[in-house]
Amino acid sequence: LAKAEANNHSRFYIASVDQEIRARKQLEKDLAQALGRGEFHLVYQPQISLQSNRIIGAEALLRWSHPDRGMVPPDHFIPVAELNGTIVEIGQWVLDESCRQAAAWAASGMPLRIAVNLSAVQLRQPDIVGTILATLGRHEIPPGRLEVEITETGFMENLEDAVEKLRQLNGAGISIAVDDFGTGYSSLTYLKRMPVQHIKIDKQFVQDLLTNDDDTRIANTIIDLGKSLNLSVIAEGVETHEQEFYLRQRGCQIAQGYHFSRPLTPEAFREFVAQFHGKLEENVDNPQYNR
Ligand code: C2E
Ligand code: MG
Ligand code: MG
Ligand code: MG
Repeated sequence: LAKAEANNHSRFYIASVDQEIRARKQLEKDLAQALGRGEFHLVYQPQISLQSNRIIGAEALLRWSHPDRGMVPPDHFIPVAELNGTIVEIGQWVLDESCRQAAAWAASGMPLRIAVNLSAVQLRQPDIVGTILATLGRHEIPPGRLEVEITETGFMENLEDAVEKLRQLNGAGISIAVDDFGTGYSSLTYLKRMPVQHIKIDKQFVQDLLTNDDDTRIANTIIDLGKSLNLSVIAEGVETHEQEFYLRQRGCQIAQGYHFSRPLTPEAFREFVAQFHGKLEENVDNPQYNR
């Protein structure tokens, strides 16, 4: 009986793995066509200076509206796109669309910095630096108006190559942020070697900032690290006034999160900025490149 049951279990297991493989194949197929079918769009989440209470920029976040399945979250499809390489083409679209939007904002008196997530797979492309600079040039965006966000795991695989490319991007005036800081293989040694201007406290530490002592300590440590390495710290996932207040008085410079605004369509973003009327701030990180 036990044997029959075990057999049954494994058959069930195989059936579900089979199903998963099929679903995954379908996702890959849909993903390959999504770009051509115009199924992607970007939403923009404001980033607020905690010192001046001004909007200093926006993070561009990718959205995929699948014809049958509705919104597919990026955490679901980006790992797949990274594995099969489609992230290179999709990421290039994100960069181009972000720059187009930044140019439109600038033309209407909103010279905001735009932060774009760059996958490790994109960073590994030999021509990535040239591609990014050419995209900026095509849209006449000063490099100081672009921020590139990469995760720690993004550098690790080929550290020398990553450092060299980030140096080139940074040398051209683009600022670099380490995303999801604290969740990967943080190493102080590489952080010191990296041409990085910002570290982003992952939202998992911000969520329970005021209720979980470990998270409080982690956030404090990242803020202090930022201070000693002369990097500005961005807190992501700020959802309450209390979190904002704590982060400000603790010395965190920039925040983004639902407390300020969800990621917005370009139209809604424009309205949000209008409410912050006149509170725009020029990019302070690389002023020499800001025109
Ligand atoms: P991320 O870059 O760390 O982005 C932050 C995520 O937190 C976003 O999720 C954002 O919508 C969400 N978020 C912002 N404020 C709050 C808040 O107050 N509370 C909560 N609970 N969440 C908040 P999203 O848009 O689902 O993106 C997830 C991840 O997908 C991103 O994490 C990033 O790693 C990746 N991603 C998104 N767009 C792109 C892209 O264009 N290229 C690449 N390579 N990755 C992207
Ligand atoms: Mg990000
Ligand atoms: Mg993040
Ligand atoms: Mg994250």
